[in-house]
Amino acid sequence: DYQLALKAAGAFMHESERFLVISHVNPDGDTTSSVLACALLLEQLGKTYVIVNEGETPAKFGYLPRFSHIRNLQKDEVAERFSHVIAIDAADSKRMGNVRYLFNDDARILNIDHHPTNDEFGNVNVIRTDAAAAAEIMYELAVANDFTLNPELAVCFYTGLLTDTGGFRYSNTSPNVLKIASELLQYGLKPGELAERCLEETTLEHMLLLRRSLQSLAITHRKQVASLKVTREDLQTTGASSEDAGGFVNHCRNIEGVEVGVSFFETEAGHVKVSLRSRSRVDVAEIAKQLGGGGHARAAGCTLTVSIDEAERVVYGKLREALGVDSDE
Ligand code: 5GP
Ligand code: MN
Ligand code: MN
Repeated sequence: DYQLALKAAGAFMHESERFLVISHVNPDGDTTSSVLACALLLEQLGKTYVIVNEGETPAKFGYLPRFSHIRNLQKDEVAERFSHVIAIDAADSKRMGNVRYLFNDDARILNIDHHPTNDEFGNVNVIRTDAAAAAEIMYELAVANDFTLNPELAVCFYTGLLTDTGGFRYSNTSPNVLKIASELLQYGLKPGELAERCLEETTLEHMLLLRRSLQSLAITHRKQVASLKVTREDLQTTGASSEDAGGFVNHCRNIEGVEVGVSFFETEAGHVKVSLRSRSRVDVAEIAKQLGGGGHARAAGCTLTVSIDEAERVVYGKLREALGVDSDE
């Protein structure tokens, strides 16, 4: 059961002196704060660790403790191979990305996650699919194994809860989430400042990119689907980076009467990152899974290796099935 899994995770952290700690590709607030919380827990045990992300970690999370320890697989050379790996918020082994090359062939893996599409790729798996955030599980892991809570851990846990619940607004905002958040605030966190940094503040490039992308807004499937596209050209023209394209999909889903919001983001030629958000009926994790991705019922995604127009065709087809409509009109 879950409590035993938390204890097993605590025991795993005693199995070695040195650990590789990894998040999922395109790291977000939850995975970033969870791996940093994990680093702080390992420090309490006197262990050493290397944190490696596939891709850039958003700079806005730079206030998190040990943020500067995070290495980027694309930029930093990591020559070491690891016998013990802790993966957090990664729904499947693919989601860890190329960091897999840092594992020994017989590496032991601790898999901590809250995605219903998790395929239990670890030797030890701590999966609670009704947790709002991986950070919620990290908090429970810390408590179950008698770690000492402190302001540094609190700011990590809180950031994960804050970002994965969209500021305590999404349907995953459970009594447990608010109870933990309330406990964490007692460590002197500034909730207003954290919300401002994580959720409110945007870059100018984000706005320029949004302005451009909005011209592609399409309302389809009898007004139940709204979608946006972001092309390589949009990025180049506005000087934006992929980090600046976050959150576009929410604008689509937020339109009155729309059930599913979709964004198509051309990360490189022939590679399209698809984000899906639903309001109440459509299980977008199921659609994303069929297309090689995954996620949650209300928020999911996948990456398709096709043109952006082909990606749109494929996703529109799945949405016709899910919504029971026979055309894209
Ligand atoms: P986003 O659209 O914000 O990138 O992701 C929304 C949700 O879907 C997140 O919970 C994320 O973990 C999941 N997700 C996004 N892309 C993928 C993917 O390619 N594979 C899997 N397994 N999950 C994904
Ligand atoms: Mn995540
Ligand atoms: Mn998460």
